[in-house]
Amino acid sequence: MPTPRPVLAIHGGAGTIRREAMTPEKEAQYHAGLRDALSAGYAVLARGGQALDAVVEAVKSLEDNPLFNAGRGAVFNAAGGQEMDAAVMDGRDRRAGAVAGIFGPRHPVLAARAVMERSDHVLLAGAGAQQFCREIGLEHRGPEWFRTDQRWQALQDELERRRSGAADDGDEARRHGTVGAVALDAKGHLAAATSTGGMTAKAVGRVGDSPVFGSGTWADDRTCAVSATGHGELFIRYAVAHEIDARMRWGRQSLAEAAEAIVAEIAPVGGSGGLIAVDGLGNVALPFNSSGMYRGIADAEGLRTGIYAGPLVGAGPDSRRHGT
Ligand code: ASP
Repeated sequence: MPTPRPVLAIHGGAGTIRREAMTPEKEAQYHAGLRDALSAGYAVLARGGQALDAVVEAVKSLEDNPLFNAGRGAVFNAAGGQEMDAAVMDGRDRRAGAVAGIFGPRHPVLAARAVMERSDHVLLAGAGAQQFCREIGLEHRGPEWFRTDQRWQALQDELERRRSGAADDGDEARRHGTVGAVALDAKGHLAAATSTGGMTAKAVGRVGDSPVFGSGTWADDRTCAVSATGHGELFIRYAVAHEIDARMRWGRQSLAEAAEAIVAEIAPVGGSGGLIAVDGLGNVALPFNSSGMYRGIADAEGLRTGIYAGPLVGAGPDSRRHGT
């Protein structure tokens, strides 16, 4: 077996700013944020590190970036609070850890990893999850760290829309976002990580697809690693991430066929969004049915990022090698 060529793919959510509202300055900031996360994660793979460490480093970078809906800059729920969900999964043995509805840890993805490595459980939620995070000494931050004016305004706009009875204008940037990473390392192992504030004005206690294994997050060395973003309820109902695994394993579909099929299947039933996926050969699929998805790829050829439909841009002799 030849040594696999490591690859990392990331997303910063399907809740992209409408093209007409995007300025060159903002666009540059998003690309820079994606490149920072790719650099952080790919550095791990380039020195022979594990896929699991790479996806965690990439997601930590995105959680610290207030542009993206995870950690700092998470959206607000209907009561004006922030409740975060995160998950990690290791393709070597399907070990997995997740947290749901937490507030306080600077890096929810580290909380998820700690559930996997330091508890007997797979998913911890709410007060118990927060107690666990404190007990193990995770770094915490106060409300001022997580709050951004844009997300607060998005909540006010959404609450006002509901009060007025106006139709949903489908503005994806106002409603959602998520961050995630998938990777293949030089030993041929896969991993996935996802972190989110969920959806703007969600009900208190609502949990999305990100910490639900087989829906928003999945990794199995035999098939693929997946991290999803979009309308979480639909991603849960259609078991989106596991559907890709099943189509590959039982249906013998390629990664691209499987990933594109499920993203197309959920579009007409309200499942707006997309996902990133990688298989054991280093193939990457980044399908979305929304108007855009913040996304990027890092491999030996360099870093490439994209927001709307079309080829990724960035360093490398052929930026379209992996398609979109
Ligand atoms: N999937 C996330 C959730 O439902 C939100 C998003 O990705 O936009 O919580």
